Amino acid sequence: MKTRITGRGPWLREAMAPDEEDEPSLIGEQRADVCIVGGGYAGMWTALELRRRQPGLDVAIVEADICGGGASGRNSGMVLSQWAKYRALESFCGTVDAIRLGEVFAHSATALDAFFRAEKIDIEFRRDGWIWGATCQRHVGSWRGIMASLAMHNLAPFREIDAQTITAMTGTRAFLAGIYDPTAATIHPGKLARGLRRVVLRRGIRVYENTPMLRLDRDRPATVRTPHGSIRAERVVLTMNAWSTLIPELRSAILVIASEDAVTEPIPELLEKLGYKEKPLMGDSQLFVTGFRTTGNHRFNPGITGGVIGFGGLNGARFEGRSRREDVIRDCVRRGYPDLAEVPFADSWFGPIDRTRSGLPLFGALPRYPHIFYGYGFSGNGVSTTLTAGRILASLALEEKDEWSGCGLVRPPERWLPPEPIRYIGAHMVRAAIKQKDRLDHLDREPGPIVRSLAGLAPGGITTSRVTKN
Ligand SMILES: Cc1cc2nc3c(=O)[nH]c(=O)nc-3n(C[C@H](O)[C@H](O)[C@H](O)COP(=O)(O)OP(=O)(O)OC[C@H]3O[C@@H](n4cnc5c(N)ncnc54)[C@H](O)[C@@H]3O)c2cc1C
Repeated sequence: MKTRITGRGPWLREAMAPDEEDEPSLIGEQRADVCIVGGGYAGMWTALELRRRQPGLDVAIVEADICGGGASGRNSGMVLSQWAKYRALESFCGTVDAIRLGEVFAHSATALDAFFRAEKIDIEFRRDGWIWGATCQRHVGSWRGIMASLAMHNLAPFREIDAQTITAMTGTRAFLAGIYDPTAATIHPGKLARGLRRVVLRRGIRVYENTPMLRLDRDRPATVRTPHGSIRAERVVLTMNAWSTLIPELRSAILVIASEDAVTEPIPELLEKLGYKEKPLMGDSQLFVTGFRTTGNHRFNPGITGGVIGFGGLNGARFEGRSRREDVIRDCVRRGYPDLAEVPFADSWFGPIDRTRSGLPLFGALPRYPHIFYGYGFSGNGVSTTLTAGRILASLALEEKDEWSGCGLVRPPERWLPPEPIRYIGAHMVRAAIKQKDRLDHLDREPGPIVRSLAGLAPGGITTSRVTKN
């Protein structure tokens, strides 16, 4: 079947040749050693890692849409270290392992670049660094606690920069101060997703596209049931991102909330004039972070978080089409780059973010089913962390006792969200409070106790994390 291009976001449209074909759907009864459900970055990295370790292993991916059709083909392509989440990492993993994992995550950009160079696939890798800054006085220093925790271990991945330096580096005058991580990079998410798919197919991994798992029979060997067939597998790995909420054991562990992006047409001269051509990607310190980057073909790409909240068992269709919050994205452009405020958006889109309470991704086996594994909760940071997820999930699936299967991110599914409809109502109240707090912070006004306590319930996000222990 010819791959559908119309209706997809710009990253996938740009990454796909007009004559591309989907992999066939699953028909009939099949078997595999490992069946992976979900062909996003996490599923594909896991498949590749399994084959790297055991070249003879029979691995199959079952994907409801096309590989990369989920969040992996429609993110902002920011490859960030996870040092901003160091404290949460330390609380789960202990100091030694948190530092080890922090270094692994920080190496992700380099690892991605090296992997795709070796495969001769261009993912538009650009190492411009990342600025995490403050757009109001109340946010200045949001990063100091993290910097202090890191400094206790002689770690200094960030450099503090002042407003003038930020203006010199990026052209914006909206940031009052910030920190700079020179290791961060941007990639083209569509080219990364489709490139990964190409490598998966090159390695002989079976991929079944347009094949949603409808049911999972859990007794060993498990059976993944799809509309026209099934796969019996000794081990199953669930990498379904936001759609993991369809698995009852994971439902109360993940809050699904949309993020949205937009792009202008290519505007190289204007970006050059503003001082933002091929410059660092940026994020502010709001609880609902807003960010900017530019693309390889010199489009301006703003992004915002804090969109639609999925109700219970999520219906993927809710995340299709153009963003319904272009006006909010426009406001964020107006604040950051007033000279771009009137430049039309050539396109916009949105997609699901699977947030955990801590803001860290978590892994493990379903209670009572030690042969069914999960990886969820990339919380807006999956471009870098899914690479490591592949290692962790491969170690779990191969029952290898090593630093991956033994790390502190391997833990039982968290149970922190109440059942529906309380969860949906509660999440909307918290979201409203976060927005109110971000707004009042910019007016230099103190939020009231209700807004403060509700906003305090926000799960970890892109720069923020929560220190939690279960
Ligand atoms: C707008 C936006 C901007 C973002 N920006 C960034 C960024 O700049 N940097 C960053 O690091 N991260 C970012 N992210 C997050 C990042 O995209 C994700 O963390 C990452 O793609 C997660 O990969 P995944 O494989 O877990 O999920 P996905 O790519 O969503 O893959 C899950 C797959 O499972 C499939 N699936 C679901 N249910 C079933 C089923 N029943 N049967 C079969 N298949 C199923 C889906 O179709 C999907 O393809 C952003 C996300 C969004 C939405």
